[in-house]
Amino acid sequence: MLFFLVFAGQIWSQSDDQVLRKIYDASLEEGMSYAWLDHLSNEIGGRLSGSDNAQKAVEYTKAELENLGLDKVWLQPVMVPKWIRGDKERASFVAQDGTMRSINVCALGGSVGTPKPGLKLEVIEVQGIDELKALDPEKVSGKIVFFNRPMKKSLILTFEAYGGCVDQRYSGALEAGKLGAAGVVVRSMNLRNDDFPHTGSMTYGDLPVNQRIPSAAISTNDADALSNELKTNPKLQLYLWQNCQQLDDVESFNVIGEMTGSEFPDQFIVVGGHLDSWDLGDGSHDDGAGVVQSMEVLRLMKKSGIRPKRSLRVVLFMNEENGLRGGKKYAEEAETNGEKHVFALESDSGGFTPRGFSFDCSDQDFDRILSWKSLFKPYLIHYFEKGGSGADIGPLKTDGLVLAGLRPDSQRYFDYHHASNDTFDAVNQRELELGAATMTSLVYLIDKYGTAATAPQPLKD
Ligand SMILES: [Zn+2]
Repeated sequence: MLFFLVFAGQIWSQSDDQVLRKIYDASLEEGMSYAWLDHLSNEIGGRLSGSDNAQKAVEYTKAELENLGLDKVWLQPVMVPKWIRGDKERASFVAQDGTMRSINVCALGGSVGTPKPGLKLEVIEVQGIDELKALDPEKVSGKIVFFNRPMKKSLILTFEAYGGCVDQRYSGALEAGKLGAAGVVVRSMNLRNDDFPHTGSMTYGDLPVNQRIPSAAISTNDADALSNELKTNPKLQLYLWQNCQQLDDVESFNVIGEMTGSEFPDQFIVVGGHLDSWDLGDGSHDDGAGVVQSMEVLRLMKKSGIRPKRSLRVVLFMNEENGLRGGKKYAEEAETNGEKHVFALESDSGGFTPRGFSFDCSDQDFDRILSWKSLFKPYLIHYFEKGGSGADIGPLKTDGLVLAGLRPDSQRYFDYHHASNDTFDAVNQRELELGAATMTSLVYLIDKYGTAATAPQPLKD
């Protein structure tokens, strides 16, 4: 009987806790997410927007989604910025004892290069943009500004520590450029002391081209060394060289797959991550993990015999890292086509052990979701909080839409974030698979019971 029901694509004979068990079993015993991540990381590698690798990832994930036998798979064209790193960046200084210390450095995404011979200039260290703005511009002019405020180690939610520091990376060159500085180096967004420089996005705002100065990140160890040296050697000259450049926009794609809803095909649920990554590593945690987990949600639904009532889409967004063009494009087209989205879930916080979700939704929807919390208890999923969701799904936000982000354990995430060690070996298979099953479970429940806007009752079996 059960076989027949599953075969028919219905699982009404089973309670929610049985269905969740089935989803977790399918992910842990015969999951596909890890094999997909292996290919994305090791056969393709870093997937910077506009690069050949990004295009390979588009083609690979489209083909894999087609293999799943979904109702529709397509590419959504989107123009993306194309920035290239160029040759390996160099930085160094000569210490007071005469030894040369070379520094682990990488250009920030979107930065201009240095003049051809590089910069060799005095450094002014600040703890942040406020301190910079309070300085006499004469002290800043012609120097390299060194932003050295560390991420706060005492914060348990490490994304808060990131949020408390990342303005230096994003707007440092903009603010220093206004004051006539010649360059910027930023302490890497990393809680650990190590030798990896971490890249990331930055902006020049509407600064005129002649005030756009090169900006780079240096490793936390090198930031400490530079800061220490400056205490006794304030006139030291820092050498910085990079030849990155911003090219014209190019066409790329969001990759989309859909299982059409059996009862409410015009209500859409989206699950996604971003297909692009930074170029230093393989983008395995950020956001290869989110991409393969999102693909796996649709595969696990099928595998567990769940035919969604609402149309379920996986969207692999292009260009989250340096433009968010894919997320904006998807939301624009959804609006143009009058598509009613009821729920969107993003995984973009690494492939670590899932703890739960954060939600951007009404109190009424949040209460509905909390009523399912006990179903997740056997899987040690306990974190259900209001908060942010994900960058790519943010542009979809409308009243009544429930937005959510998977929240994995984040203690080690910033060891790898945007750095060359964000590689396949940094992702644990089991942790990745637990995340995929956790996402699928929430999608299953929201599809079954609807949201406050679509189906006021019932809340549970
Ligand atoms: Zn990301």
